[in-house]
Amino acid sequence: MSNWIKEMAVGAGAAAIVVALILGFDLSLLFLPVSLAVLAGLVLKGRNPWQEGFKTSGASGGENGVPAVTFDEIGGQEMAKREFLEALTFLKSDGMALQLGIRPLKGILLAGPPGTGKTLLAKAAAHYTGSVFLTAAGSQFVQMYAGVGASRVRQLFKEARSLAEKEGKRSAIIFLDEIDVLGAKRGRHESHLEYDQTLNELLAQFDGVKSEHSVQVLVVGATNRSDLLDPALMRPGRFDRIVRVDLPDRKGRLHILQIHARGKPLGSDVDLEKVAAETHGFSGAHLESLLNEAAINALRQGEPTISAQHISDAIEKVMLGERSNRVPSPKERERVAYHELGHALISEKVRPKSVVSITIASRNNALGYIRQRPQDDQYLYTKDELVEAIQVCVAGSISEELILGQRSTGGAGDIEQATDLAKKMIYSGLSPLGIVSAELPKNILHKAIADLIRKQEEVVKTYLSAHIPTIKKIAPLLLEQETLSGDEFRSSLSQKEEAS
Ligand code: ATP
Repeated sequence: MSNWIKEMAVGAGAAAIVVALILGFDLSLLFLPVSLAVLAGLVLKGRNPWQEGFKTSGASGGENGVPAVTFDEIGGQEMAKREFLEALTFLKSDGMALQLGIRPLKGILLAGPPGTGKTLLAKAAAHYTGSVFLTAAGSQFVQMYAGVGASRVRQLFKEARSLAEKEGKRSAIIFLDEIDVLGAKRGRHESHLEYDQTLNELLAQFDGVKSEHSVQVLVVGATNRSDLLDPALMRPGRFDRIVRVDLPDRKGRLHILQIHARGKPLGSDVDLEKVAAETHGFSGAHLESLLNEAAINALRQGEPTISAQHISDAIEKVMLGERSNRVPSPKERERVAYHELGHALISEKVRPKSVVSITIASRNNALGYIRQRPQDDQYLYTKDELVEAIQVCVAGSISEELILGQRSTGGAGDIEQATDLAKKMIYSGLSPLGIVSAELPKNILHKAIADLIRKQEEVVKTYLSAHIPTIKKIAPLLLEQETLSGDEFRSSLSQKEEAS
């Protein structure tokens, strides 16, 4: 039936019900036959109304229910891969585990931020062990009706075993994404009866996995919030291992970039090591998207290879979003140029060669921005580093004030960032307040934040006052080109210094 006929039929049905109600007909008598008709319809269509299909790897490029992804296609997760491979030995050991009386490992939990490769790891595990692979998301089990989630859990384990038998495999891997939705601590949810029943069923299924079964089932769970999981799920015999899958470090980012650069023609000016250094905080998914965007940039410009500039634009797009269509007035553009150059000047002062690019092209909510070379893989910050970061934040508005006489709303985001940095200093005992407790009264906290920021504003004001001519000299170039690379900015700076 075409969609419009369906829509007409639904509309006519609804209208008939409304008319019947207005005329005073008792419709309750129709409830049973209509429900039976709907159920029969679903069954005839081959769908079980109480169960939802689970995705098997057949849909994701593999054969015989086994995914095609291998561990070699996963970069930057060496530790996670090693721990995972170790845990998989029993699935590969071909009866040895049973002989040694080893209790099968029932579950592995992959915990870490989004896009770091948890799904890839689970698929690669299935490939490595020759297991069939079924995947379901926690939200698929959550229903309004008590018992439906639990029955779906039962169905999933049953389907995993029967698929493995059908494909002649000895093992099945069930990948449960967003496991925190299904496995949150019991009693937490409002409709907790349904949630609790579903989780209880999952625990029962874990307990039902025995080494003597012809098909070994391994559950791989994935979550960004392992702290929310019910302790019963985390005890040995359920999720026996917890593997951290963190954001990649520089070496890891390089590896992931190399993997996703396969088959992409990179220009001779592209240095993936440099790209890895500039993408601190990117996940594997970000890096994949970055190279894809770079290739799209090349295509748009009709160029046969991907250049360093295509990659640089793509980094900005992944970090800040698509370019916006807003067109600021010439006065606003000039203000934005002074603002960004203020940031850039202080950034170079506190960390030479730290500016990667300065632009006054708008993206998302920003009318301009500077991109700094990240402090690579740094996990601790000293007091001086935090103070310098606050100086870079406030420099944009100070530059506006010094040159145009007033600040603008363009500094709102910078203040927010400076406030966060000041808070970090205060709660780490790096402010004049010394060691403070988390219950610091609000008024004292506010005053301490304002004092810290104001003090750095004074330092920045003194420095920038002496460099107003430099900013005014570079601004026309930025206004004309819209974007300056870090090297262009530094060369303008040194020309200015030589001239003066
Ligand atoms: P989520 O928690 O959001 O479900 P995830 O951790 O499961 O994310 P994946 O689905 O495995 O992340 O990754 C998404 C995509 O990002 C992959 O298909 C791949 O292209 C890329 N990717 C992520 N991590 C890596 C990695 N470590 N190596 C190579 N590619 C990766």
